[in-house]
Amino acid sequence: MNIAIDGPAGAGKSTVARQVASRLKLLYIDTGAMYRALTYAAIHRDCPLTDEERLHSLLESIQITLDALEDGQHVYVDGHDVTNEVRMPVVTDNVSQVSAYPSIRQRMVQLQRELARNKSVVMDGRDIGTHVLPDAELKIFLTASHEERAQRRYHELVNRGIEADLPQLAVDIAERDRKDSERETAPLRQASDAVLLDTTGISVDEVVNRIVTLYLQVKEHAEA
Ligand code: C5P
Repeated sequence: MNIAIDGPAGAGKSTVARQVASRLKLLYIDTGAMYRALTYAAIHRDCPLTDEERLHSLLESIQITLDALEDGQHVYVDGHDVTNEVRMPVVTDNVSQVSAYPSIRQRMVQLQRELARNKSVVMDGRDIGTHVLPDAELKIFLTASHEERAQRRYHELVNRGIEADLPQLAVDIAERDRKDSERETAPLRQASDAVLLDTTGISVDEVVNRIVTLYLQVKEHAEA
């Protein structure tokens, strides 16, 4: 049984998804980290972000891996841990451009489905319920007010020791959501059968509890 969690930037998807996975003993897969890893690799290797073909060749030539460690999920490019690097503003500012290319998305979706094959997973991203795992037994669309999402991103960055400017972050988040929602291939969208959870003013624990409860209900129903 799989759980798909989608939603806009800063909605708390990764924090919630990781905790849900840990409570239910499922594998957590952060698909945003994969797009970020490719964007990081492209910047690092001077691959022009406007060149879809070269980006696709780069994606074919590198190995992006994920590993669940005690302090959260780590992401690697060819074995190098780039978990912190992929959260840097230069990556965040450019990832939507890279993730909009159809050939990149096609390959990423293949990789994501391979990671989920024969396993029960909690996967978070933008197109999980609509494209990557359309048959997921539970689909959640997680959102929160724009102000709260900007605040959460701000605290996340500051806690990682990355300098941040709240008003600028609010603008950046709105812009990233616009790009992710308006792209032609698999845009950010709530699946018709997803449960909408607005987490404004709700604690992480409460959101996690709600998803775990929903999952257990779906599971009980499936087994009945
Ligand atoms: O979730 P996160 O903020 O780390 O995602 C970074 C970016 O990766 C998103 O803004 C989006 O452009 C892209 N993404 C995507 N599809 C996914 C996951 C992330 O296009 N399934």
